[in-house]
Amino acid sequence: MRRNSKQRDIPPGGQAFKSARHRHLTRTILRWYTRHGRHLPWRNTSNPYRILVSEIMLQQTQVNRVLGRYPLFLKRFPTIRSLARAPQRDVVVAWQGMGYNNRAVRLHRLARTVVHRHGGRLPADADALLNLPGIGRYTAHAILAAAFREQVAVVDVNVRRFLSRFFWAMPTVAAVHNEGQIWVLATRLVPHGAAYQWNQALMDLGATVCTARRPLCTRCPVARTCSSRASMLQVAVRPLRREPSLDGVPNRIYRGRIIQELSRSNRRGRTRADVLGRRIYPRFTHRHDRWLSGLLASLQRDGLVVLHGDGSLSTRHVSLA
Ligand code: SF4
Repeated sequence: MRRNSKQRDIPPGGQAFKSARHRHLTRTILRWYTRHGRHLPWRNTSNPYRILVSEIMLQQTQVNRVLGRYPLFLKRFPTIRSLARAPQRDVVVAWQGMGYNNRAVRLHRLARTVVHRHGGRLPADADALLNLPGIGRYTAHAILAAAFREQVAVVDVNVRRFLSRFFWAMPTVAAVHNEGQIWVLATRLVPHGAAYQWNQALMDLGATVCTARRPLCTRCPVARTCSSRASMLQVAVRPLRREPSLDGVPNRIYRGRIIQELSRSNRRGRTRADVLGRRIYPRFTHRHDRWLSGLLASLQRDGLVVLHGDGSLSTRHVSLA
């Protein structure tokens, strides 16, 4: 029998997630969260700007690193207006230690747009949030749920992975269910009046128990009714994909060093590219020209640096954007 599109959104077990299994899942997970949920500073605020900053920081950086940088960044830019007023280079410098500095550029642009378009207040409306540059469905819903306590689902990679495994039998640790269908399911699962706690609970469960490479099924509060438990207990752990690196140090670290060097030694001026190469990698020689050119080109594409001149690296100069 063919299933229509609405039926395809429903996980195996038909409407079961609306009944006993759903109630059990909600109760068990919320209880688990009360005992095991993480204490994170952005959970102690309903300030939309502070929540936005945490969401952007957490996009590609581990929680432990964000915990150290988050208060410093907010001390430097306590409001969205102060962030919007600052020159881009100051924002990038304050972002140091987080990696992926293009997020600082995006956050800065976003702050300026919010000041220009909404008088410095992040809107409490999904469509208005989605119309802002750099805000996708996940970030919009995360702000709505945390800052405005809207009863919406929030699906990040952790939530998607957990829901995929719990409701469908996933054959490998890398497999996840269709994203659109996960959003439909997640929206139906939101318990009335407890959306915020529920979303945080799912994220914590995905981040600390139903983890990407090695799910801890023996410690999972919902293992008894999980569709993937059997397969996850047997899966072989896949090797991590290697990041581009030089001498074992990932390129993203060198990108960070470039920004650090430019901000420290020559904030208003330009630095010769090959000199910069030797500062970020002491064994730099002409053999590394291509590598450095690639790093500089990617930083320029991300709007973080400007390259001046052409030809060899000894005739080119670099400055912060
Ligand atoms: Fe994830 Fe294992 Fe728990 Fe299922 S039993 S939700 S696979 S940790």
